Amino acid sequence: MEDQDHRSVVAVVAGFDTYQNPMLAGMREVLEAHNLPLLAYADDTWGPSVAPALVCALNRSSTCGVITTPTMTAERDAELHGLISERDLPVVHIGQQVPGRPCVRADNLQGMTVLMGLLLDECEIRAPVLVQGLAHHPDHVAREQVFRAEMARRGMPVDEELVIQGRSDPDITKHELHVLLKCRRDMDAVITMDDISGMVVIETLAEVGLRVPQDVVVTGFDNYPMAAINWPGLTTVDQNLQEQGATAARLLLNNLTGDAPPEHVLTSCTLMPRGSTAIGRASHVATRQTVESVARMVRVHLATQGELLRMGRALMKCHSLEDICQALPNTLAALNVPRAFLVVYERAEAATNDHPVTPSTARLALDYRDGAAHPVTAEAFPACNVLPDDLISETRTGFLAFQPLAGTQGPLGYLLFEQSYSPASIAEGLEMDLSRTMEAVFSAEALMDYSATLERLVTQRTQELMAEVAVRRQVEQDLRKANAELHRSVVIDGLTGIANRTALDRHFEEHWQRHVDHQWELAVLMVDVDLFKLYNDRYGHLLGDGALKTVASCLRKSSRYPHDLACRFGGEEFVVVLPRSGVEEALTVARRFSSLLATAAVPHAASPIAPVVTASIGIAAIVPSTETSPEELIAAADNMLYLAKKEGRNRIVAGSVMEPAVT
Ligand code: GH3
Ligand code: MG
Ligand code: MG
Repeated sequence: MEDQDHRSVVAVVAGFDTYQNPMLAGMREVLEAHNLPLLAYADDTWGPSVAPALVCALNRSSTCGVITTPTMTAERDAELHGLISERDLPVVHIGQQVPGRPCVRADNLQGMTVLMGLLLDECEIRAPVLVQGLAHHPDHVAREQVFRAEMARRGMPVDEELVIQGRSDPDITKHELHVLLKCRRDMDAVITMDDISGMVVIETLAEVGLRVPQDVVVTGFDNYPMAAINWPGLTTVDQNLQEQGATAARLLLNNLTGDAPPEHVLTSCTLMPRGSTAIGRASHVATRQTVESVARMVRVHLATQGELLRMGRALMKCHSLEDICQALPNTLAALNVPRAFLVVYERAEAATNDHPVTPSTARLALDYRDGAAHPVTAEAFPACNVLPDDLISETRTGFLAFQPLAGTQGPLGYLLFEQSYSPASIAEGLEMDLSRTMEAVFSAEALMDYSATLERLVTQRTQELMAEVAVRRQVEQDLRKANAELHRSVVIDGLTGIANRTALDRHFEEHWQRHVDHQWELAVLMVDVDLFKLYNDRYGHLLGDGALKTVASCLRKSSRYPHDLACRFGGEEFVVVLPRSGVEEALTVARRFSSLLATAAVPHAASPIAPVVTASIGIAAIVPSTETSPEELIAAADNMLYLAKKEGRNRIVAGSVMEPAVT
């Protein structure tokens, strides 16, 4: 539980620039005297609504009150005021009028009235141009009302053609003024709602050859430092921003201590006459004193800008968050920042480019205090806590500015820092350079992670592919084996292992036509085992099969030529085809077979011809023609076989040749 000692005030500002810094300085002065720390949040213009970090701040039980200044849009203001009302937090608004709530505003009516007096009475302006500001900005609206009232009071009609839109945007202001200058040159003043617009007007007039203040006088509002730095100096109205901040803090303290009714307090404005209106009876040309004070301010600005530039160069060399944290302390020291904490959001898993989300956890990257960086704990902490537990006491003292850091794809983190009051703003430079560098470093890291992941995937995939290739090779090998087996089984006789009838047919298909074409001779042997039925009867089918295998083996051994084909024709009959051969070659093969069979000497006790298995052989040869067929050749050989059987078996008959039995 946070006790009373740990209360702090939250301020919401549009940024930490020359407009907000004096107000924050005023608040600090008053709050510090009451030991109340101030935590100022720069509105995160990145998000679609109030930043989660600020919502966290409003929800913290230690937050005892809020001071707001106008943010960038009326919608954002309304949303913020709604959040504060829901939580019933004591609040003081600066520069806004919220019904039922204490508000502090510069007395715009008084400031603008004094300015109009200078222009209309002293400078004797008769044809002023009015550059309108932001339509939602109550101060801008009030200033325009005063402009019209003061003109009317002097009986001067407002030339509506000379009322142009600027919307506090330099580009729009420049454009609209150029459009007007194309058709009108009779204006003697340009009145703007803010100094930046005033400066742009001076520049635009110079572009078309109009001199300030001799031809046209120009005024701004707010008294930004640059209004004094310009030549001619820009006449403007100082809203006493520091006094506004201090008044707001005093009102908040009243709210906290008692039940003071809501108050609307107006702080007075001061006219700052300068060179841009130094004509007629008005003599606002710079004195030596003002020149010296301007020179001092310029020196501070230049020193600050120089330091920020050096930081930019140092950050350009950073390749990691560690590099950034090493580069930063030099700059922080040179800019007189007493303490700063760089916090990086943990990358949210659910975030995509289209739907960035603010991560809920963060990590401290840099702890800079007393001019040095201190070691940081690597542990992540809830982003809502702003700082890790061991540093939470830092938020309970003095003043800290919460500057969000965001890249093109959403929030990256934030810089929490204390800035000693200076007319120069450092937050913008820090924000831009840090955000850009962090984004570059993070995307480089993300790319490296990504490429490492890709490499891992490639390695893994390569291994998988190699395994797949090995499996595939094995499968192909098996398939080849299976195919060969299938092929064999189609053309090989299952019992004897030599070619079968299908093989014989294919052999003829392959050779017949070529023999016709070349008129080569082709011979066949028709072989039939003698009295094999008796063999089976005597020895049984199993031994019969063995005998057939022996016969087949002898046939294969006797047909040696590469193209010779020995095949089982069916049962105990065999055919040998001898391409490019005649009867003589066939007789050689037949004799070789008969002799091999005799040598094998398979006993055949039941045979009256021989004590061993014998075979009869018929031989036929032909020079094939288109009129003849393999069947005829086989039939001729079969006829010779028939003769061999008839003549007593165990012999060879080739055409007229007849050979006796081999003994
Ligand atoms: P021949 O000398 O006139 O040729 O007499 P043979 O007994 O050999 O002729 P036959 O045609 O009468 O008988 C052939 C026998 O061959 C009949 C059959 O039992 C046998 N046979 C045919 N194929 C096979 C086989 O695959 N295995 C076995 N064991 N015997 C077979
Ligand atoms: Mg037979
Ligand atoms: Mg037989």
